[in-house]
Amino acid sequence: MKQGTIDKPVRISDRNPRNVFTHALLKPAPEDYGITFVSPYGGAHAHIDNAVEKTFGVSLRGGNGKVVVRVVEHWLAALYALDIDNLRIELSSDMPPIFDGSVVKLITALKGRVVRQDKERPVKNPHWTGRDRFGFYSRGGPDRLTAAPAQDFALAGVFNHPKAPFAGTQAYTWDGRLESFETDLAPARTNVLLNRFTKIPFLAAAALGLHNLNESTSLISYGNRWENESRYGGDEPVRHFVLDRIGALALLPYRLRCHLTFERTGHSFDIEALRALHSEISW
Ligand SMILES: [Zn+2]
Repeated sequence: MKQGTIDKPVRISDRNPRNVFTHALLKPAPEDYGITFVSPYGGAHAHIDNAVEKTFGVSLRGGNGKVVVRVVEHWLAALYALDIDNLRIELSSDMPPIFDGSVVKLITALKGRVVRQDKERPVKNPHWTGRDRFGFYSRGGPDRLTAAPAQDFALAGVFNHPKAPFAGTQAYTWDGRLESFETDLAPARTNVLLNRFTKIPFLAAAALGLHNLNESTSLISYGNRWENESRYGGDEPVRHFVLDRIGALALLPYRLRCHLTFERTGHSFDIEALRALHSEISW
């Protein structure tokens, strides 16, 4: 497939995770430009080498080594599904809008604007020398990423969280198509999982200024049930889990043709695992 951008600038404004009303100006960008976020603190290329987990999300370091933009994973997932490779995103704060916790509004705003450029997008069919697949595991934990060579793309997610045992083990596999992303993943909101006796994640979020992680933008569990209505019946968590993993995958400077499985991983693990995959891959 050829690389893609948008046909003309698009403006999108909404509240960010800190509840700050944020303007985003999305500008077409030339081939091989990649995705760049520009905040009042500086510009950052969406690349695995610049990624770090901060404020419960994937953040990006700018040229000065400092984090200049935060919680970019939902936007990156939407751009990945839209097959947009090159885009400059200018923000009036250091976080892009979170909307209703989902990326439906972003997909709707950009869907008709995508244009193909002349140059082919880099695609890799990886294999791993001496092994039949790549595997990356957390030390002493159940998190893992595996990647198996294949002729097509699939990203499977397995959600099974100790703070939401009532949700059980949930799985979803994305086939890489925009149509399935729109129906199955784009509406899924972030999960805030609270223990029965503590609201520490809320307190931690408040300490980080993330006042917009609430019932209007997130699926909340408290004790043995969901506090607010789940979209998709009970399996909204794994759908958002897969969306977050697509956002992480978008940090690689090429598309992978292989079968990926993320089990119980978090942002920090994703960044570490994809960095290892990026360095260990054989073409
Ligand atoms: Zn998320």
